[in-house]
Order: sequence, then C-alpha cells, then structure tokens
Amino acid sequence: MSMNTQGRPTAAGDAGDAFRPKTFTGNRGLDMEEPLIFEFGSLETTGVDLDEDDSAEFELGSFKRKAEIGLPGLAEPEAMRHYVRLSRNNYAIDSGLYPLGSCTMKHNPRLNEKMARLPGFADIHPLQPVSSVPGALELIDALAHWLMVSTNTSAVAMSPKAGAHGELCGMMAIKAAHTAAGRDPKIVLVPESAHGTNPATAALLGYKVVNIDAKDDGTVDLEALKKTIAEHEGNIAGIMLTNPNTCGLFEREVKQIADLIHKADAYFYCDGANFNAIVGKARPGDLGVDAMHINLHKTFSTPHGGGGPGSGPVVLSQRLAPFAPLPFIRKTEKGVELVETEAATKDGEQPFGRMTAFHGQMGMYVRALSYMMSHGSDGLRQASEDAVLNANYIRVGLQDLMSLPFGERPCMHEVLFDDSFLKDTGVTTLDFAKAMIDEGYHPMTMYFPLVVHGAMLIEPTESESRAALDLFVATMRDLVMSAKRGETERFSGAPYLAPRRRLDETGAARKPVLKWTEPAPAEVTPAAAE
Ligand SMILES: *Cc1c(COP(=O)(O)O)cnc(C)c1O
Repeated sequence: MSMNTQGRPTAAGDAGDAFRPKTFTGNRGLDMEEPLIFEFGSLETTGVDLDEDDSAEFELGSFKRKAEIGLPGLAEPEAMRHYVRLSRNNYAIDSGLYPLGSCTMKHNPRLNEKMARLPGFADIHPLQPVSSVPGALELIDALAHWLMVSTNTSAVAMSPKAGAHGELCGMMAIKAAHTAAGRDPKIVLVPESAHGTNPATAALLGYKVVNIDAKDDGTVDLEALKKTIAEHEGNIAGIMLTNPNTCGLFEREVKQIADLIHKADAYFYCDGANFNAIVGKARPGDLGVDAMHINLHKTFSTPHGGGGPGSGPVVLSQRLAPFAPLPFIRKTEKGVELVETEAATKDGEQPFGRMTAFHGQMGMYVRALSYMMSHGSDGLRQASEDAVLNANYIRVGLQDLMSLPFGERPCMHEVLFDDSFLKDTGVTTLDFAKAMIDEGYHPMTMYFPLVVHGAMLIEPTESESRAALDLFVATMRDLVMSAKRGETERFSGAPYLAPRRRLDETGAARKPVLKWTEPAPAEVTPAAAE
C-alpha cells in the first residue's frame, strides 16, 4: 500500500475485493472513512464564537503571534463524531479477543477506572506539599507491601515507568551493589530466548552481554551456563533471566541457576514481565531472585499499549534493598514518610540516584491496588491459573494442525507455534496473521521470540470464556486448513476487510510523518478541469 504526502495510507485497495462496491464517501457500511482533523473544517465554522478583544495590552513582546494559529474548526457535534469514529478504529481488549503474546493484554475491570478517577487520586500534583497527600503515599505504600508479599522480597523501587525502565533500575541497583563492594565486573549473562530489552539494558549500562544457549526444549542449558561462568570467573555482574521465559515455558532449573550465579558473586535479575502466570503460585524471592521488575500493566491489569502508560516497580532482595533509588517511602511511628533527597537518607541506605523526576505512575498504582484488593489472594491465584489454562486450551485445540517447536509439553500463559506447518503452502507467518484480521482477530505476536522460525506467540486473556476460545480455535483451524488447501489468495492480499490494508510499517517507523502540513492546492490543468 502506498502513502499519500501526509504519510497516510491511500484509500482501501482494490485487489481481490472486486465484488465489493467502492462507495462515494469511502465509508464501509457504518464504518466511516475518517480524515485527519486538520483535513476538514476551518476556524470560520467553529462552534465557539468569542468576541475579538483589542483592549488588552500584549505583554509578551516578540512572542506576539504573526500568523493564524491554524487550529481546525469544527462544530461541537463534528468534533464529537471525529473522536468517536477514530476510537472505533482502535482494536482493544474491550472489542475482541486480543491474543498478543508477550504483551499480556489483561482484563481491565471498570472498578479500577472508577478508583483511579477519584479526585483525591486523579487531581493531585507531584509538586504539592507532601503533607497534603498522606492518602496517596499510603496507597503507594500499601501497593509496595503487597508486591513484596507476593514476591517474598525485602524492598521495592516504585518509580520506574515500564518494564524496560524497571530492568534499568534493577541493573543499576546491582551495579551500585558491586561498586559498594569494591568490585567492577564487566559481563552480564543473557539466555538466548531473552526479551530484546534485556541485552539492551545491560549494554546501556556498559556491560558486555554474553549469550547462554538454550536446550532443545527451549529452556536454559545448565551445562552451558556452568561453562560460561567458569570461563569468566570473577567478571560476571549478573544474569538476566525471564521466567516463565519468552517461549511460554517455566525454567524448571531456576533454583540451580540462582545458586550458580550467587556462587559466582553475581546477582540474579529476573525479568518479571510474565509474573501474571505465577502470581499466587510461586514467589520469585523463594527462587533466589535478587531483583525483578513487575509490569503492573501485564500482571495487575491497567490498560497499556495504545491505551495507557505502563508501570514497572522493581522488587529487591535483602542484599539489594539498600540500593533502591530515590524517592522511597519509609514507615515511621508518625505514619509514612517520603524520602526524596540523599540528605534525608539514614545509615545503610545507599540510593544510586533517581529513575524519574517524581514518584511514578500514580494512576497505575491505584488501578493495580484496586485489582489486587478486589481479587484477593485466591482471586489472583485463580487469574494466573486461568491464564495458563486458557493458553493450554488453545495449545491442545491447535497442536495437531499447527507446529509446536518444543513438543507437546504444557505451556504457561502463552503458547508458541512456529511456521513449519505452513511449509510448502506459499503462506508466510505475516500472511497468516493478516488473514486473522479479516476474521476479526488481532493477530498474535509474530516473529518473536527469535529462537524459533516464523514464531507465532499466542496469549489469550485469562478472562476469556470457553466459548470465545472455542471460536478462536475453530477460526484458526479454518485458516490453517485453507492454507493447506492452497487457497493462497485468502492470505496474500489480506486483510481485505479492514479499513486499511497492508501498511508500510517499516517506513512509518523509520520515517515517521508527525506533523501535518497543508498540501499545496492541486494544479488544475484545463484538461483536468473538463
Ligand atoms: C513486555 C516485556 C518487557 C518490557 O516491558 P515494557 O513495559 O513494555 O517496557 C520486558 N520483558 C518481557 C519478557 C516482556 O514481555
């Protein structure tokens, strides 16, 4: 699909959909073809009609506006329709099953939204006096408490703003601990199946990343780990391990891995993005983890991706607890106290600095605590169990037709297929995913993790009903059979029915067009005017 000069894809294509009428408006049924807000309306038609005020003296000197401000002008109902129509183009967990592996599209109960909008939480400002927000501090402290309880750890840094930011925070704490002990190891070990953010984090801190091979079953090869540790003795800062890993498999030898790492004077960083599979079942602190970020947006609900920000608190073991960054909350007899400066720290507290200007994502904290408290420990455990059950239900429903790279062993909260079942069909992983869109499903995660060829990583939300999973499985089976029958057209041009067809995603990422500029008026030649 080609882009117009504004970086917007040109209108819905024609290949393969000759049977569908091209509408005069560009609308499809009740799905409206919506232009950018700048492309229609002008200030003359705005719904607001203010008097010109020439009486006030302009006091900003050279900042006086010299040209029209260029705002779009719309009547109130037009503005309303514009945003409602745009929102209909947004696929969300609220509109359908969203099997995006690794990203964990959690159920977001409306109760959380109601709590986050309470004025006492929603309307506070990070610069207002701490004495005026004791309730907000108590909420952060209560959430911190339950994060430590559910992980069996000693401290938690609340401020990181997403998973990757949490990784950076945890690894900075590890670096600070090594520095405090007079050590300066240079290497961080990262298993083959790691999320891309893990090696990126280590590299950002100046560490050399050394890869650890996986066994045929997709988990860390303990013998390879031993060998690598021996090779780099005394020079290893830590390991960054995801558990359950990005193949959706639990690292069963995690305790042996932790022991080997600790014996090497190194720390065990666990990427906890997949904590949603084990909450209430296993506590990372019991597995020897020293630092782990928790993606609140993947484990304790809260909308994310296009729908809202994330939050990545990092729990820390006893050994790393003194190195938590500023600010942190300290409990005193008088209540909770916010420690914001190094001058306010006490003996033994050695914060490595700050991760962020203020205190973190307050709205996410409220949602996460609301989710935790409304579920209770039994409810949280059941959410983990349901996530694992749903993924395995899909695995069993598809394993005879699609290909499991690591055999028919149970998976955790997500199931990984590779593309060998598409061999000789002429259909690629990408084609297959695009055809899912025509069926009304957001595609699963594709081509990740990199350890298998043409990966398709499926993670159903824990709250999906059996009927919804059955329909998904039946749809996937229909697509697979269609590919195997050689009906390549259904795939090669898909999606046929979406408002947009195949977009130039690489072009959009590499050369984003972020600013609208008014197109030059089209030149009207006599021939065209006829
Ligand atoms: C999502 C994810 C991350 C990154 O988290 P963000 O909140 O997107 O920064 C890191 N590791 C794994 C395994 C993940 O699934």
